[in-house]
Amino acid sequence: MSAAKSSTGTGTIATADAEPYRGRFAPSPTGPLHFGSLIAAVGSYLEARVHRGTWSLRIENVDRTREVPGAADLIIRALAALGFEWDGPIVYQSDRTAAYLTALDRLASAGLVYACSCSRTEIEARLQGVPSTGDDMRYPGTCRSGPRHPERALATRFRVPPGSVRFVDDLLGEVSQDVAAEVGDFVVRRRDGYVAYQLAVVLDDAALGITHVVRGADLLDNTPRQILLQRALGLPVPRYAHLPLAVDAAGAKLSKSAQSVPVDPSRASALLWEALDFLKQSPPDFLATAPLADVWTWAFGHWDLSRLRGQTRGVAPAGPT
Ligand SMILES: [Zn+2]
Repeated sequence: MSAAKSSTGTGTIATADAEPYRGRFAPSPTGPLHFGSLIAAVGSYLEARVHRGTWSLRIENVDRTREVPGAADLIIRALAALGFEWDGPIVYQSDRTAAYLTALDRLASAGLVYACSCSRTEIEARLQGVPSTGDDMRYPGTCRSGPRHPERALATRFRVPPGSVRFVDDLLGEVSQDVAAEVGDFVVRRRDGYVAYQLAVVLDDAALGITHVVRGADLLDNTPRQILLQRALGLPVPRYAHLPLAVDAAGAKLSKSAQSVPVDPSRASALLWEALDFLKQSPPDFLATAPLADVWTWAFGHWDLSRLRGQTRGVAPAGPT
């Protein structure tokens, strides 16, 4: 995975595109809204609004095993209390299973996926001594010509073509990843039957006609996999802008516990101010205690995504959010 500042990525941000702008915010209901997801909400919302585009809200609950009961409603209520206005009905991935399975059938008919019986332990054993990158263990392709243990519950893996996947991120410039070498054939349907996140996101973005994805840099290394799936399914590739990751004052990634601190919508103006400050918009101090509508009005008039160009990290507010 490599990202480098590149001149090829500049000049596109403030340009009015001919096609209508369609953005989205897609939180996972694994807990209440926290500062990291608020950043993605504010960034994607303002970018959509200043382009006179639409902004959809999608609840990414394809992984029902990680969904926390009530979390989706908490997130939706917090967004409403903070003054966000989404277009169209809220989309729940849990309602989209039929579309996901249709796409899986298409991939299977094209010979682009295969069944895999490998357990995590078996993959680890085969990779012994081979360094793994990030959270995802590279899959060595064991079952490419047929599952080793067809009697087991089988996962479905996407047959990754060799070579680097490149795209130009609107903030980070040219990004490239050799998915075959770094990740290997990745899971599109899990052994427990759930469709994998990567496939769901790609199909949802296409179904909503999303033209621009603005989201946190923690998802940057997912993008090349998603682009491979878009290509395989003949879907348009949206533009991507990955916002800086929230870190603490010492520069360390926020701990799981700090990441999961819910934002307090009762201090809406201060929260929105903190998000705008994190996003390098330099909001004037008085706005932190101004009426919420005034903060939004200022944000609509001053939002400039390009202030974040080349930034992969930003310091989260130390106090309660
Ligand atoms: Zn396998």
